[in-house]
Amino acid sequence: MTARILIAEDHPASLELMRYLLEASGYLVVTATDGVEALVALHKELPDMVICDLQMPNVDGYEVLRQMKEDPALQHIPVIAVTAFSMVGDRETVLAAGFDDYQSKPIEPENFVAQMEQHLPALLRVQH
Ligand code: MN
Repeated sequence: MTARILIAEDHPASLELMRYLLEASGYLVVTATDGVEALVALHKELPDMVICDLQMPNVDGYEVLRQMKEDPALQHIPVIAVTAFSMVGDRETVLAAGFDDYQSKPIEPENFVAQMEQHLPALLRVQH
């Protein structure tokens, strides 16, 4: 059994790169291109992990996280923030908001999957 991972990202090239890397490693990927789609997919798919861009149209990543943390069905799911802004202090702000981890863009293909896997239960990792 391997994890199902929701990627919410409005930038097509970043979305496709993350999807490719995770699928090539054997994970099942569901995608959303804005926060509204992400919330619909969360309720429908109940994924094992969410990788969520912070800057998205309609509903941003912070609001997706806030709604997840208010929902007993979703609040346990690990959420990894993705953002292009890598300002000093940004990582601390993101973690303080309640995200489990922070991934800055551009994505580094050689590290991405290993970093994401740290937030999955061992039984849901491709290699365990
Ligand atoms: Mn974005």
